[in-house]
Amino acid sequence: MTQEKDISGQKFGRLTAIKKDHAIWDKEKRISRNFWLFKCDCGNEKVIDKYSVMRGLTTSCGCYHKEQDIKKHTKHGLCKHSLFSKWQDIKNRCYNKNRNKYKNYGARGIKICDEWANDFENFYKWAISNGWKEHLTIERINVNGNYEPSNCCWIPFKEQAKNKTTSHLITINGKTRNLCYWLKKYGVNDSSYYYKRKKGLTDEQIFLRK
Ligand SMILES: [Zn+2]
Repeated sequence: MTQEKDISGQKFGRLTAIKKDHAIWDKEKRISRNFWLFKCDCGNEKVIDKYSVMRGLTTSCGCYHKEQDIKKHTKHGLCKHSLFSKWQDIKNRCYNKNRNKYKNYGARGIKICDEWANDFENFYKWAISNGWKEHLTIERINVNGNYEPSNCCWIPFKEQAKNKTTSHLITINGKTRNLCYWLKKYGVNDSSYYYKRKKGLTDEQIFLRK
């Protein structure tokens, strides 16, 4: 039997060889298979077939595949989320000249901020922490302003569809702004607003005496 090569201290992918652990005789292939103890970059130690590591078939303790799996599922999961199509729709309005809505958005200079445009997850996180629900639609405070955190909120679709160009306008203390503006300014969420309005309260009562 030939002398086994010492690989201790050598690195393969995330694995650093520490010492030989044991060997088994492979009857079928009539070879001795050597198992070594490896230390992974993640801190785990694991005994692995040396041949598999040296050939690049195994590159970590298993953590690499776990990470890839999580990444894949997170990405995949979010793509199925209904916010993903909303996000794509906003980007199309702003940048896709072939889309109908472009003339009302991109052509008028309306953009989506880089933070959102470049990363769906940023948009997703903002939406979730700012009261997004399935029946709501994104509205801008300043209708000539961009899609960006400081200029957007979630309101029911019906409210927005009533008047697309100027949106639902409300006057408080002589100042006229859209619903989005007031909800944001007074920290009122859309459902409590509608609940109070159904009960017969006026806009001023809702926002000034909340
Ligand atoms: Zn690892």
